[in-house]
Amino acid sequence: MTTTSPDLLQIVEAVRARRRFVLSSHARPDGDSIGSQLAMAYALQAMGKAAVVVNSDAAAAPLLAFPGVRDIRIAPAIDGDFDAAIIMECGDLKRTGVAGLERFFVVNIDHHPGNTGYGNINWFDATAAACAELVHELVRALGVPLTRQIATHIYLAILTDTGSFHYSSISPRTFEICRECLEAGVDPVMVARNVYDSNNMGRLKLFGAVLGAMQIADSGRIAIVYVDHEMARAAGGTYEDTEGLVNLPLTVKEIEAVVFFKQEKGDEYRVSLRSKGEIDVGVIAKEYGGGGHKNAAGCTITGPIEELQKALIEKLEGAIDGRPADR
Ligand code: 5GP
Ligand code: MN
Repeated sequence: MTTTSPDLLQIVEAVRARRRFVLSSHARPDGDSIGSQLAMAYALQAMGKAAVVVNSDAAAAPLLAFPGVRDIRIAPAIDGDFDAAIIMECGDLKRTGVAGLERFFVVNIDHHPGNTGYGNINWFDATAAACAELVHELVRALGVPLTRQIATHIYLAILTDTGSFHYSSISPRTFEICRECLEAGVDPVMVARNVYDSNNMGRLKLFGAVLGAMQIADSGRIAIVYVDHEMARAAGGTYEDTEGLVNLPLTVKEIEAVVFFKQEKGDEYRVSLRSKGEIDVGVIAKEYGGGGHKNAAGCTITGPIEELQKALIEKLEGAIDGRPADR
């Protein structure tokens, strides 16, 4: 095992000395945001402390089945007084989309490369497969028993943030934590069913439409997927329904990277990037003012779609060719 981080010890002290906590994470929360925040909230409550989770956006529908998710406050600003804000799974305080967090003593716990170190205490570990791996260590260090509720959220976060155990960020620690979660009573079948098997028909139809229009770069190694409001409407789905779609082209053996353009308004696009193995799409997203991880990253860009596609394909071809020669 690794030695205990001094930042973790500082966080333990800071938590013990305080009583009222507000918790937050990045906008458009994913499984790791939700899981990290709620695992932490339940741990704080088990210590007799007050914990409120505030997010700028609601969780995606499949996550609503998990304990406490419906109790998350959705607000653009903090209302009330707290002794500390614990921000998890968020590279920059602005990415919370929640104003006023900076008024409090800020604890920043994250695994995103490029985290800006915005906290009074910053515990950052890019080797964690999910931020919830760090939350698990903190819960242990606080002496809080791993209840089924806490363990369910930690497992949910790891399952989703590793792309169902696909990404290169997975380590022996990942499975050690999952083993502990199962011993604490987590039902992995229930978690997977809730996350992956609770689609509506509009989502399935929209997947069909978007994948039907998918393009493949000349090299045969890159898939380009695109959705706009008109396509979503015609299929009877919404943009939220495209969650997870970006991963599907990677199931084709020859496809090594995916770029997914989601039209916001006019020439503005949300871009999601995915890759296999050593191909680093995080650096590409960062070049465009976004961020993320080696195998999963995103950014927002503006311009004529044909030009954006050409530029991204070029970057991705470069990233694929830049792999170490032995891969
Ligand atoms: P997704 O494609 O699912 O939206 O995001 C994939 C990963 O990239 C996530 O870990 C997410 O936090 C990160 N990411 C996505 N968009 C942005 C962005 O605009 N800025 C930063 N810093 N990270 C992003
Ligand atoms: Mn994460």
